[in-house]
Amino acid sequence: MKSPALTGPAAHRIDPTVPHPARRYDYWLGGKDNFAADRHSGDAVAAAYPAIRTTAIENRRFMHRATRQLAAGAGIRQFLDIGTGIPTRPNLHEVAQSVAPDTRVVYVDNDPIVLNHARALLASNPKGATAYVDADLRQPDRILTDDELLATLDLTRPVGLMLVAILHFLVDHDEAYRVVRTLVDALPSGSHLVISHATTDLVPPRVAASAAPTSDASQIRMSFRTRDQIAAFFDGLELLPPGVSPITEWRPDARSAGRTPVDQASMYGAVARKP
Ligand code: SAH
Repeated sequence: MKSPALTGPAAHRIDPTVPHPARRYDYWLGGKDNFAADRHSGDAVAAAYPAIRTTAIENRRFMHRATRQLAAGAGIRQFLDIGTGIPTRPNLHEVAQSVAPDTRVVYVDNDPIVLNHARALLASNPKGATAYVDADLRQPDRILTDDELLATLDLTRPVGLMLVAILHFLVDHDEAYRVVRTLVDALPSGSHLVISHATTDLVPPRVAASAAPTSDASQIRMSFRTRDQIAAFFDGLELLPPGVSPITEWRPDARSAGRTPVDQASMYGAVARKP
């Protein structure tokens, strides 16, 4: 497989020898923006859990359904998507702007390769707006006070906060809860929080037991959290039915017969409203 070119505004920050979550996820999704180190890491995970590629695809589908729910069901017109990933169509703004063209989206990621692709994320419908912020989730105050963010989003009006397949990279529990609290506290009533998160709850014990060593072999540290630990991110918020569910069971499009079994996409997802 050909590796992506080391060019672009953030090329000097790209280290192809160390696996990165965004590039590994791109590999699982069948993209081209990954290096040998990312593919080795991705293969180490797939050796223990072959359904990881299905999981990545189902996670994208969950993100699309949750975004449509916020745009069409809750009337959300502003999104803050932290841990955007390498652009993969449709991106969040394309889903949301297909419901409401005037939707405004701020994308945030800390990976320089995502920054290199920011232009693809900025192709907004002219009635709306998109912006890209190069920042780390572990510095929520820096995100919330960013000039681009403040020029794009009105933080006195409801925001859809998307933390989709990112919180499991915050391995320190206290830090993960603190970051979510800081972000939610900064948003007004009527805002919504969307989370998807890796778990080992949904796989057989044998597969779960191999997850930790796999994480070591993959060289990307992750924290697999239980359903209760994931539910705790939503403390003080109103969970929309069906609550914290396997991502494939969260308001699925397909009838049960056509649906991916829960153990083939071992992540929980949920959407909640800030009262
Ligand atoms: N949200 C997208 C992509 C998930 S992959 C989706 O669900 O399809 C996880 C993304 O989170 C990667 O792009 C990775 O670079 C980013 N990420 C991981 N840790 C981060 C951090 N501390 N701050 C900002 N982004 C982070």
